[in-house]
Amino acid sequence: MKRKRKALKGLGPKYGTSVRKRYTKALSTLRARRQCPRCGSYRFKRVAIGIWECEKCGYKVAGAAYTIS
Ligand SMILES: [Zn+2]
Repeated sequence: MKRKRKALKGLGPKYGTSVRKRYTKALSTLRARRQCPRCGSYRFKRVAIGIWECEKCGYKVAGAAYTIS
């Protein structure tokens, strides 16, 4: 059985592939820099689950847990 495996920290093989994929995607979106839709500043960050706030202009938006769409 040939299968490429990517070692992922934090999640063991007991989780399914889809869960791991989602986990990786969530992590990468969390790390990605976000741009404020109002002032364009990159100091836009998640202050709580589902809430994003711009440190520059104070713009607050409710979005998904890991990303804004
Ligand atoms: Zn802003």
